[in-house]
Amino acid sequence: MTLDVGVIGTGMIGQDHIRRLTTVLSGVRVVAVSDIDRDRAARAAPDGAEVFDTAGALIRSDRVQAVVICSWGPAHEEQLLDCIAAGKPVFCEKPLVTSEAAALRVIAAEVAFGRRLVQVGFMRRFDADYRRLKAVIDGGSLGAPLMYHSVHRNASVPEGLYTSEMPLNDTLVHDADVARWLLSDEIAGVEVRVPRRSARSGALRDPVIVLLHMSAGAIVDVEISVNIAYGYDIRGEASCETGVAALPNRPTTVISDAHGIRQAIPVDWRERFIEAYDQEFREWIVAAAQGTATGPSTWDGYAATLTADAALRAVQSRALENLSMIEKPGLYGTSPAPAAQ
Ligand code: NAP
Repeated sequence: MTLDVGVIGTGMIGQDHIRRLTTVLSGVRVVAVSDIDRDRAARAAPDGAEVFDTAGALIRSDRVQAVVICSWGPAHEEQLLDCIAAGKPVFCEKPLVTSEAAALRVIAAEVAFGRRLVQVGFMRRFDADYRRLKAVIDGGSLGAPLMYHSVHRNASVPEGLYTSEMPLNDTLVHDADVARWLLSDEIAGVEVRVPRRSARSGALRDPVIVLLHMSAGAIVDVEISVNIAYGYDIRGEASCETGVAALPNRPTTVISDAHGIRQAIPVDWRERFIEAYDQEFREWIVAAAQGTATGPSTWDGYAATLTADAALRAVQSRALENLSMIEKPGLYGTSPAPAAQ
């Protein structure tokens, strides 16, 4: 069976996902596209795909069985609610939404529908290296995780596309999600430290250091540098009771010659996580074909949104900002029991 998919938002990542849905993955077909810029959608449309004037019309079309949302964050809420109203499985790029109130509305709609329909685009959970790291932590051979050091560096970000808050309200959500997933725990509080600003970063608050206080007492430090020039560098290290487990920048061929020892650095997220995005969609397609969703949920998107909000407050207050989550609806599984401190 082939899953007929409509893609909303045909910018950078929308085009990349159309490529993988069209030329890499099987069991799926892009039959519809839509973008606020109709010409951009028409240019990105694969052969035979219909170009819709609005996201709502695409979602409601009988041709479309499942939806992929790649528009910008503030548009996600309305598009998600339309998908849930239509009972269609939906893959939504991060961030789920851009406010706590919006996240709660999407949770309420999905819970009322009674079945998971939403998967959020936290692709690191599908990366083979991250999965190995999680298996080591979950296996318990190193004892309980006490700290996790997360490094998130981008070579640059498109000029003018983001506000000064981008590292905290757009980038941090990946590290927040990975912290929750790797440590099987919720984030209880957030602190932010702002070092000397990079001269390359203009109005952006960059770099930043974020401290995530986990419910069971572990602390996660996150370096976010979004204009670091040399490449896309994502790393992590879990420091546990009897050892550490590290995820270096992507392992690749190491060249030793007269210039020294060196290895290539990924240019951007498309290159570093190319297989993770493929796997993310492979698993999404299987679930969507059955009319549901697995993988990162609306709950996970809600938690990441709360973390970003708390980080923005923490910049102003220079203090620990606590998160206050609603009780987890049964649709999203049970919350992990906090470990003894
Ligand atoms: P982009 O290049 O700006 O593309 C977004 C596209 O959506 C643009 O064509 C935009 O049109 C269009 N759009 C905006 N509002 C819309 C609406 N209401 N209905 C339909 N189309 C609309 O941005 P991007 O880098 O592809 O990012 C898109 C989303 O993916 C963002 O949420 C971003 O955070 C996320 N993302 C995730 C990852 C990841 O690693 N998982 C990586 C990159 C991006 P205009 O340009 O005319 O506004």
